[in-house]
Amino acid sequence: MREHTEFTYGEDANRQKPEIDAPIEDWNTYIYERDNVAGYHMEYWHHAFGCRAWIKVKRDTQTHAILWVGLPQENPEIAL
Ligand SMILES: [Zn+2]
Repeated sequence: MREHTEFTYGEDANRQKPEIDAPIEDWNTYIYERDNVAGYHMEYWHHAFGCRAWIKVKRDTQTHAILWVGLPQENPEIAL
């Protein structure tokens, strides 16, 4: 087990970034219009005060329980 203080929240892992030349409205939506999920949520976290790796985490935003952890390009093998 690692301390929470070693990690920094990155971003919602369910969202797709717009292309670099996408209209400004698409970037505005991406940056400012976010879901505020109550329950399990797939997120990117940075091990900022450890090995500095990025990881993908499925976390309950209400209890902070971790259901799954993987590399950024990975997904759970079963629906969680
Ligand atoms: Zn690490």
